[in-house]
Amino acid sequence: MKAQVLLPKIFSYSFTYNSNNIPLKIGDLVEVPFGKNKEIGVIWKNKNTKLKNIKIKNIEKKIKNYSIDHNLINFIEWFSTYNMVPLGLALKMAIGNKDNFIKKIDPSFNISKKKTKKFELNSEQKNAYEYLSLINNKFDVSVLQGTTGSGKTLVYFERIKKIIDRNKQALVLLPEIFLTNEFKSRFEDFFGYEPAIWHSKITPKNKRIIWKGIIKNKIKLVVGARSALLLPFKNLGVIIVDEEHDASYKQDEGIIYNARDMAISRASFEKIPIHLVTSIPSMETYNNIKNKKFRHVRILERFDNYPLPKAKIINLNINKIKDKFISDETINFVNEFLNRKEQILFFINRRGYAQYLICKKCGFKQSCSNCSLYLTFHKTKNKAVCHHCSLEKNLKNKCKDDGNCDFIMYGPGVEKIFDEVKKIFPDKKVEIFSSDYMKTKKQTDKLFKKINDNEIDILIGTQMISKGFNFPKLNCVVVVDADFSGRGYDLRTTEKNIQLYHQLSGRAGRFSSESLIIYQTLIPEDLTLNELIKNKSEELLKAELILRKKNNLPPFIRLIAIIISSNQHDLSIKGAREIKIQLQKISNIEVLGPVDSPLLKIKKKFRSRLLLRFSSGISVQKKITNLLNSLKISSKIKLTVDVDPVNFS
Ligand SMILES: [Zn+2]
Ligand SMILES: [Zn+2]
Repeated sequence: MKAQVLLPKIFSYSFTYNSNNIPLKIGDLVEVPFGKNKEIGVIWKNKNTKLKNIKIKNIEKKIKNYSIDHNLINFIEWFSTYNMVPLGLALKMAIGNKDNFIKKIDPSFNISKKKTKKFELNSEQKNAYEYLSLINNKFDVSVLQGTTGSGKTLVYFERIKKIIDRNKQALVLLPEIFLTNEFKSRFEDFFGYEPAIWHSKITPKNKRIIWKGIIKNKIKLVVGARSALLLPFKNLGVIIVDEEHDASYKQDEGIIYNARDMAISRASFEKIPIHLVTSIPSMETYNNIKNKKFRHVRILERFDNYPLPKAKIINLNINKIKDKFISDETINFVNEFLNRKEQILFFINRRGYAQYLICKKCGFKQSCSNCSLYLTFHKTKNKAVCHHCSLEKNLKNKCKDDGNCDFIMYGPGVEKIFDEVKKIFPDKKVEIFSSDYMKTKKQTDKLFKKINDNEIDILIGTQMISKGFNFPKLNCVVVVDADFSGRGYDLRTTEKNIQLYHQLSGRAGRFSSESLIIYQTLIPEDLTLNELIKNKSEELLKAELILRKKNNLPPFIRLIAIIISSNQHDLSIKGAREIKIQLQKISNIEVLGPVDSPLLKIKKKFRSRLLLRFSSGISVQKKITNLLNSLKISSKIKLTVDVDPVNFS
């Protein structure tokens, strides 16, 4: 008997082996010889693969007690086609690497019981819970919307609990790795045991333990980042996508996919309900609510009825802000909160100290030699750093008059604001909340503890802080530089801004009736900002949706970006032109470009872009993949395909 075996490698097809008289069915995991090595693969559906004239090898053995289900097999096939990713690489996301099968005696996943705290749903939460629970055992998308602080988490915890009680598994997706730890204690308090935490940074040993627990249906609750999407659940009952609007669900490197959208598909293959949880839905979700494709329920009240913070716009007069970015008016407000021993957050969405370094004498700008980007000055390192490729440069540069360049700094970053805040409030405890300062779990935990114990008066934070944290004493947020001018590289600039500022304002006043968000801005008359402070986020989404329709943008049409990169600029453009000619043979798609990427060079590669546009009802990926596979593409250029692109840089 012959059997098809798919290997977790870059191939898009399975290999034929002899079954060696082992009774096998689709989904079984097997060990096979491959080249000089042994590999673990999965018995795959029998496709009419052409048998080449080669000696067919025997399957060595079946891996006992391990198999993946038909639902997951079908999903892997679909995932691979949709995202134009080799089938084997999609499989790899599901079965991991060989480590999972090494005979090591690992302890099984620890599900020790802990004490639970008592939680009770208020009537709005109860209502939302009942609405979500209306549909079980079949595919259904519902959206749970509620302001930050309305207790959405509690609602879906209750939902998960009921589903786990029926001996099913539950998957909770979170947009960022660091949030999984923040959530852990909340899960423990509610469920009385630790959830399995899954993301790319957990240790190989933990990965093995959790993977085995999932495929054997022993682990019921998994909390994970994007990569948890293809785990081999045996009896999945529900998927929750928390903070569904978060742009981090889109993976932009390696295997490019949108984890939120893929989670919806996984739920459809598993025939189970999925709940998207958000305070302000993403544009796609908003559109689907309007179209009645997704069910929708809201929680309007905040926990204990604490109101959302008041908002204030403060005009940052451009003539005054040479190197002072915090206005006197802001300082007055901040002092009121400090006097009450409450915490303040200064928000600035730029890492490092200053965005540009320009020589006063010769105009030389520090830029990256690998990327078309200026370098950001990092004071702690005393170096100029590229935020794309991490290149670090010393500041010393030879100027035109033989001396050294004398750099001035433009565009304040988090470190610059830190210095300024320190100067204004010299006896206050100030800390930076940014990825550069939270590299290890230990650093992060320490910072959280200090914040929660009220040992910090003022936080200076980047975008990271807008996500899902509960800081009880934080009652005043200052947006240092509220900027709504889109930069054009990102389809979602407006949408992202609406969500960012909404999230930020939600960080303040979780447990206080008097809280404030201050928007310092150079453009106080900006329409979006003025709507935003009236809590009209939804009207803004509506307007944006109309604009998208008018401009023929997603979700009204579909896009696929193809990025052609090369060491030489002319090769990337030439390659793109040739590929365009071929792609134009496919009916029903429009091929735009090629154009140079706004960030022309990244990591020493020049990048040209093609954009394919087609109507949302049709599926063209298979045709495009087949065509691209049939082309003889020079080894000097590299293709990257981004289905449903968001970022156009
Ligand atoms: Zn760089
Ligand atoms: Zn100079």
